[in-house]
Amino acid sequence: GRRPLIAGNWKMNCLRADGLALASGLAAKLSAAPDKPACDILLCPPATLLADVVGVLGHCDIHAGGQDCHFDQNGAHTGDIAASMLADIGASHVIVGHSERRADHGESSTVIRQKAIAAHDAGLIAVVCVGETEQERDLGAAISVVCGQMDVSLPEGATAENTVIAYEPVWAIGTGRTAAVEDVAEMHAAIRRKLKERFGDADGFRILYGGSVKPANAVELLGVDNVDGALVGGASLKVEDFWGIIDSCD
Ligand code: 13P
Repeated sequence: GRRPLIAGNWKMNCLRADGLALASGLAAKLSAAPDKPACDILLCPPATLLADVVGVLGHCDIHAGGQDCHFDQNGAHTGDIAASMLADIGASHVIVGHSERRADHGESSTVIRQKAIAAHDAGLIAVVCVGETEQERDLGAAISVVCGQMDVSLPEGATAENTVIAYEPVWAIGTGRTAAVEDVAEMHAAIRRKLKERFGDADGFRILYGGSVKPANAVELLGVDNVDGALVGGASLKVEDFWGIIDSCD
């Protein structure tokens, strides 16, 4: 079976003191846990803290990743960060195509595919985000929108080893509203079918759910067929909440 991945996306939160306390608090939880968690764990802090978070995590079994990268390997892109730079400071993953990047920075699925390729070229695992808006869901277009995003955002070279899909309905992000379990099940099954059509063997790909995941709903959401983990925003900023979600895996 697929081992779940619980990923924390800190977004634009945490100054040094808070971020390092959060990472070291989670490392302490992990080392004090009687049993190893039944999931992989990933933290995606802001770029300013990534190197220090990698340092705090040391050899403990928690991965660190970026929240975005540029599609070029280097060059004249003021303010941007190359995938190789993330890898260079110890990141293993990078999120690409988060809906906040799509909205705030006008990122298209084409750009996101290029970013995923850059991530792969740098040896990083790309966490490729997809998800419909509330209007698209109300129009009955959720599955076609998400499948369309996948068609363009996923590069030909995507494999279960170098790519994770994160389904995040835009209207569930930071709103406290989660998708109904039947809708999550339907969407994740559609994503799995789409991966199968495109890549043949799709059994190994992990498909995360994101959008207002918290300890109180994690067991239910993580229990849905084809939900192979969670991409967590708000609840990843508190040790107890994030650990509670990790603890929901078994
Ligand atoms: P919330 O968990 O705060 O809803 O954010 C989800 C998300 O966007 C993770 O990438």
